[in-house]
Amino acid sequence: MSSKTKDMLLQNKKVAIIGGGPGGLTLARLLQLKGADVKVYERDKSREVRVQGATLDLHFESGLRALEEAGLMDAFRANYRPDADRLRIMDEHASIFFDEHSKTAKGDFGDEWFRPEIDRGPLRNMLLDSLLPDTVVWDSHIVSLKRHGDTWEIIFQNGNMVIADVIIGADGAKSKIRPFVTPIKPFYSGVTVLEGNIYDAEKNAKKINTVLQGGKIMALGDSKTISVSAKGDGSLDFYAGWNADVNWLTDSGIDFKNNKQVLEWFKKEYVNWDSIWLELFEAENTIFVPRPQYCMPLDQHWDAQPNITLIGDAAHLMPPYAGEGVNMAMLDALQLSQSLTSENFTDIRSAIAHYERQMFARFADIGRETLDNTEFMHSPDGLKKLMVMFGQHLE
Ligand SMILES: Cc1cc2nc3c(=O)[nH]c(=O)nc-3n(C[C@H](O)[C@H](O)[C@H](O)COP(=O)(O)OP(=O)(O)OC[C@H]3O[C@@H](n4cnc5c(N)ncnc54)[C@H](O)[C@@H]3O)c2cc1C
Repeated sequence: MSSKTKDMLLQNKKVAIIGGGPGGLTLARLLQLKGADVKVYERDKSREVRVQGATLDLHFESGLRALEEAGLMDAFRANYRPDADRLRIMDEHASIFFDEHSKTAKGDFGDEWFRPEIDRGPLRNMLLDSLLPDTVVWDSHIVSLKRHGDTWEIIFQNGNMVIADVIIGADGAKSKIRPFVTPIKPFYSGVTVLEGNIYDAEKNAKKINTVLQGGKIMALGDSKTISVSAKGDGSLDFYAGWNADVNWLTDSGIDFKNNKQVLEWFKKEYVNWDSIWLELFEAENTIFVPRPQYCMPLDQHWDAQPNITLIGDAAHLMPPYAGEGVNMAMLDALQLSQSLTSENFTDIRSAIAHYERQMFARFADIGRETLDNTEFMHSPDGLKKLMVMFGQHLE
C-alpha cells in the first residue's frame, strides 16, 4: 500500500464506511491505496456468512473500471465465471427466442460490451482480501449517528460506540445513514420480486438447470418475468417479478417460510406459465425473500454536507432490471475516492459536492433506463420489446 497522505483532505481523518457490500468494500480499497485511515462497519457476524443473491455482471465503464483502478483485475480474472453471462430469453411457455449458448465467443476484457459474471461471495472475498488487516469490523449493526461538532458518534445495536471524522453510508436499501443526509424517500416502482435460491440445482431443479446450462435465463410473459442465474457453487438463484399493489406483501397473507403456500400462490399468479417453472417453487429447502421494488426519485438532490455522504443503494436504490445496482455502487466508490483524495478541493464538503453532482446526474439517466425496463418487461409486450433491445424481431 502506498502512503501518499501529503496534502490529502483525509490526512489525520478517521473515515467510517457503514456497510461492507460491493460499494463500501470497493471504496475502502480505493481509499486505502491513497493512504487514508478507513474502517468498514458491517452488521454481518463474520466474513463466513454466506452471501446470497443473483450473480452480477460487471460493466466496462463502471464496475470493471473501479476494479481496474483498485488494482484488482488479476483477482477478478481469477474469480469470474467465464460463459456464465450466456443468456437465454424465453417466454412463459418455455420457448427459447434468443440464445447466446449458440454463439462461439461473447467478447473479452477490454471490449465495451463484455460483461463478465461473478458471484457475490467471491466478489466480496476478493475485495476483503485486498484490504489491510482488521479494516472490516464485523458484527457492527449501526442503529444511529450523533453529531459532535466536527465529528460523528456511531451508535451500534450492541451499545458500543466509536467516533469518526467522515461517514460514508454504504448500507444499502434500508440505509440508517441516509436520513442524516436527506429526508428524500424512495417510491414504490409497481413491481414486486420474490427471490429464491435452490441448492444443488442439478438435483433439485433438473429441467431448469438443463436449460440454464450454467448461464442465465430471462423469461417474460403475461406481464410477468422470471430471471434465473446459475452460480458457481451448483446452486441457482432466481427472482420472479410481477405487477403488484404496494401493500401486496402484507395483504397476501402468505407465510414465506411455508414453501407450500408459496407454491400455491405461484400456481395462481403465474397461471399461464408452463409447468417447467414450477420446479423453482417445489424444492423443499428454498428460502424465499419477497422484495417490493422501490426506487429513489430520479431528480433527487441535496446540498452537500461537510463530512457525510452516501454511495450505492443507500444513495440511489433502484429495481434490478437494468443490472446496474452493483455497477453504480462501485462507480460511486471510484468517483468519491477520486474526489476525496484530489488536490483540487480545499475542503471535504467541496469534494463531496463534486462527487454528489456526478452521482445525481448519472442516476437520473440510469434510473430512467431502469424504470423504463421495469415497466416494459412487466407489460403485455415485454418479450417483444426485450427482443428489440437485443437487436432481434419477434413477429
Ligand atoms: C433480486 C435482485 C437482483 C439484482 N441483480 C443485480 C444485477 O444483476 N446486477 C447489479 O448490478 N445489481 C443487481 N441488484 C442490485 C444490487 O444487489 C445492489 O444494487 C447492490 O448490492 C448495492 O450495493 P451496496 O454496496 O450499495 O449495498 P448492499 O449490497 O446492499 O450492501 C450493504 C451492506 O451494508 C450492510 N448493512 C446494512 N445495514 C447495516 C447497518 N445498519 N449496519 C451495518 N451494516 C449494515 C449489509 O449487511 C451489506 O453488507 C439486484 C438486486 C436484487 C434485489
